Amino acid sequence: MIAPDLDTAVNRLRDLIEGATRIVPFTGAGISTECGIPDFRSPGGLWTKNKPIQFEDFVSNREMRDESWRRRFALEDSFGGAKPGRGHLALASLHRAGKVPGLVTQNIDNLHQDSGITAQDVVELHGNTTYAHCLDCAKRYELAWVREKFETGGHAPDCECGGYIKTATISFGQAMPADAMQRAEELATQCDLFLAIGSSLVVWPAAGFPLLAKRNGAALVIINREPTEFDEIADLVVRYDIGDVLGPFIGH
Ligand SMILES: [Zn+2]
Repeated sequence: MIAPDLDTAVNRLRDLIEGATRIVPFTGAGISTECGIPDFRSPGGLWTKNKPIQFEDFVSNREMRDESWRRRFALEDSFGGAKPGRGHLALASLHRAGKVPGLVTQNIDNLHQDSGITAQDVVELHGNTTYAHCLDCAKRYELAWVREKFETGGHAPDCECGGYIKTATISFGQAMPADAMQRAEELATQCDLFLAIGSSLVVWPAAGFPLLAKRNGAALVIINREPTEFDEIADLVVRYDIGDVLGPFIGH
């Protein structure tokens, strides 16, 4: 069913949420756009202007590491001050109510954790850009430290072990995190309500999860501005603004 208007969407969603005991939200860039985080993949988005730096180029080329960090610092104006939006707050409310055993996200902005969901319950498929780590020893580094070293030394700093320091994101060409993938599959398999929010569900592995949930008996809700491939098998499709749709669930 495609919701014909916002009220119907909210009412139908409320029924599904009230009837569910294990809700797994799956979020993409659309939930963070009202927070000022750009959707890199969208037409006109950053990745259509700046070709993404492949992982193998990052590890084999110092100039690419420097360029990667320059781009990341340039994004700090949008990432640095971003606050959770209505969608994040609503999902945090459902988590507090004990209905959400875990949340899966394609986003790297840390806004689900900022909204109050414990970090261990946020499964990040593409990592996190709000801190950095050493690719060899995994030591954590804060961005402000990296930036200071970059600006004083003229190059991206290396770890004290000699390894390269990179934001904790999964880059193009970098292996998906096996533990996060496994957790996401378990959550999708065991839920009774799967909420796909703000994702076009095109990019692998995102595309696999709604189907997995549905096949295992969950109800499927898709909240996204644009149609997706899975609209036909969804129990509810909502194409209204995510903040407007989820706002009524803040505090519930
Ligand atoms: Zn190291």
